[in-house]
Amino acid sequence: MKSVFINDFRASVDCSEEQVLARAKKEYGLPSHTKAYVYRRSLDTRKDRFSFVYTVAFETDREDSRFRTVPSYTLPQRIEKGKTVPVVGFGPAGMFCAWLLAKCGCKPLVIERGRAVDERVKDVESFWNGAELNPESNVQFGEGGAGTFSDGKLTTRIHDPRCRTVLETFVQYGAPKEILSLAKPHIGTDNLQKIVKALREEIIKLGGEVRFETKLTDIRIENGTLKQIFLNGEAFDTDIAVLAIGNGAEDTYKMLLRNPLAIEKKPFSVGFRTEHSQDALNHRIYGKYYGNANLGPADYLFSHVTDKSNGTAVYSFCMCPGGRVVNASSLPNRLVTNGMSYFSRDGRNANAAILASVHPSSPEEGLALQKQIESAAWKVAQGLGPATTGKDFLNKQTPNKLSGPDATFCPGVRPYDINELFPPKIAARLREGFAKFQERILGNEPALLTAPETRTSAPLRILRDESTLQSALCKGLYPCGEGAGYAGGIMSSAVDGLRVAEQILETLQ
Ligand SMILES: Cc1cc2nc3c(=O)[nH]c(=O)nc-3n(C[C@H](O)[C@H](O)[C@H](O)COP(=O)(O)OP(=O)(O)OC[C@H]3O[C@@H](n4cnc5c(N)ncnc54)[C@H](O)[C@@H]3O)c2cc1C
Repeated sequence: MKSVFINDFRASVDCSEEQVLARAKKEYGLPSHTKAYVYRRSLDTRKDRFSFVYTVAFETDREDSRFRTVPSYTLPQRIEKGKTVPVVGFGPAGMFCAWLLAKCGCKPLVIERGRAVDERVKDVESFWNGAELNPESNVQFGEGGAGTFSDGKLTTRIHDPRCRTVLETFVQYGAPKEILSLAKPHIGTDNLQKIVKALREEIIKLGGEVRFETKLTDIRIENGTLKQIFLNGEAFDTDIAVLAIGNGAEDTYKMLLRNPLAIEKKPFSVGFRTEHSQDALNHRIYGKYYGNANLGPADYLFSHVTDKSNGTAVYSFCMCPGGRVVNASSLPNRLVTNGMSYFSRDGRNANAAILASVHPSSPEEGLALQKQIESAAWKVAQGLGPATTGKDFLNKQTPNKLSGPDATFCPGVRPYDINELFPPKIAARLREGFAKFQERILGNEPALLTAPETRTSAPLRILRDESTLQSALCKGLYPCGEGAGYAGGIMSSAVDGLRVAEQILETLQ
């Protein structure tokens, strides 16, 4: 028996899964006892085509030109000559890299500057309630990385068979099973907090070690080969290390830039979070299907090209249905927004980042732009979120009153013309994009805008050899995940972690 699938099988949103599978078997001439399951389900919200769109998988020997083979990925073989491999950063990239290394006979030594998830949750909650920021334990640093306080969306544009392994691994360690078949799977911060702990326990059980509150402070390279890493200032001899540091660690970026590594500029994006009523969005997107029990809270994807000559755009990013806007700062006297949701996505507001891409001329210029915007935001609101209404933003005026949806940002927001936080040209593009966003997505629905969103992806890329995945200038060092410039989001970071682990295993073999 082979696993095959068929795409684009449409069914009304009222159909049960059993009805869909029975109809699919009938339509493809397969006996009713054929094993079949929903491989993926998405929702087409176009008015004239409103329906679920299924990818249905069958176990069959029947040949049919319409059948496609289900992509598969096999974990690498366990190796005999495993050794200690320091993995710096315990976000999705570091976590999946360490997990695979441990499973295949190596001893990952995970180095994470932040705290374990239970302590981290307390640090983050007290920060959101007005306490001082802990610069080592916050929304960006600590067990699980930047994804722990997130919506846990696992959507990605990459088409890699490892994505399925990532989903299955999340399920194995506690994620809801439905993520396996949804086209837009999400885990929710509540589940993620348990999953990252379970993954850590598994890595330790398999022989790995996890050191929290331990920071990579320097590296020593000799003749193009890694010689030592420094942990909280102390030298540790090693000729191998994975750098899965995420995009929030400005001090670590600066340390790496001082070292002989090839690091290049990379475009990234800046903007703000918009939030608005989830219920109104459900009405607007679902129309006559509003209230259907099979439909979760509605989402959207928006993009508007602001410069046709080079394709630069303003776009929505990390949309969180029924979520909240969060203070994702990791540095004192800086402010950064982001969004998160619980698995239930039952908050009153929907939120998304609205971003304009920027093209700095060097990594240093990118870091400086982030600093300029984040510091200005902190200064004008002293730790609260500078916020405005959609209308005041477009009219470039300071809001008298923040009418519209209640802010979800903690510890609170302060009225401010957020145009002032950005260089004028970027602010102008954001206004142009937001006007189109209102037209296409919001309609007359009022929105509250909180700024700035600056940590959407890395402002640099640590160059690596395309086949070995080792640093272009330092043998033994493996730049990995989002912070190194090779991923964007939880799924692609996790996949990159697996790819790096595979390369390490192959080299050690
Ligand atoms: C609030 C929020 C919501 C998000 N929502 C989503 C979402 O729904 N879906 C999605 O796909 N993406 C989301 N993202 C982005 C996603 O979290 C990142 O893309 C992903 O976590 C990147 O994975 P990573 O492992 O490369 O880096 P990270 O997750 O950033 O992990 C890097 C880790 O390295 C550690 N570290 C850094 N420097 C050092 C050092 N010098 N020494 C030791 N440790 C160090 C950090 O403490 C951190 O734990 C969200 C991000 C945030 C902040």
